[in-house]
Amino acid sequence: MKFEELGLSQPILKALRSEGYSEPTPIQQKSIPILLKGKDLLGVAQTGTGKTAAFGIPILERLLQTSKGQSGKKRVRALIVTPTRELALQIAESLSAYGRFTPITNTVIFGGVKQGQQVKALQKGIDILVATPGRLLDLMGQGFINLNDLEIVVLDEADQMLDMGFVHDVKKIIAALPSQRQSLFFSATMPQAIVELSQKLLGDFERVTI
Ligand code: AMP
Repeated sequence: MKFEELGLSQPILKALRSEGYSEPTPIQQKSIPILLKGKDLLGVAQTGTGKTAAFGIPILERLLQTSKGQSGKKRVRALIVTPTRELALQIAESLSAYGRFTPITNTVIFGGVKQGQQVKALQKGIDILVATPGRLLDLMGQGFINLNDLEIVVLDEADQMLDMGFVHDVKKIIAALPSQRQSLFFSATMPQAIVELSQKLLGDFERVTI
């Protein structure tokens, strides 16, 4: 199978070619068509499977398709919550690469550093926000993040978030999201606590296991 068969736009196909990706990995083959239809997804998959592109590419495609004609300051339309700063930076870098020929922008926020630069980037207006849970809640609490226009949310590495004690934060974040949205939940393992968390996030979902 080829990326061309998945119904992606030229700017995204061009970026994937320049990344040297010749064909979608199994999780990408399974997830991209589901996500392009706007459905919720439960992905049971580890890092290293191409998981980031499996959600990043359809998010960019959907935002691109509906971005034409939008004017004024950008509002956060997609949110990706991930447990660590390293993962957040990697995801943001991948989104920038896959979206480099599109007008879709992203920024990344995480704790352990001063918030000034992150707040500045948010105030410029961005389409996609990549965040770790604590800093996200902190900046939401200070009124720097408005999620009223959110269309898509991703909870990445959910089992790791649980292990790191973020479950309470994650539940608060979920409670602050608009109820009309597309939701994606990724975890390498599915213990009971993770099944329960996924039920809080997802509506009617499709499951992909790699
Ligand atoms: P991830 O599981 O998202 O951390 O991705 C693992 C690695 O696979 C990253 O270095 C990606 O750049 C790379 N990758 C993702 N999708 C593809 C693809 N379709 N073809 C080649 N490499 C890929």
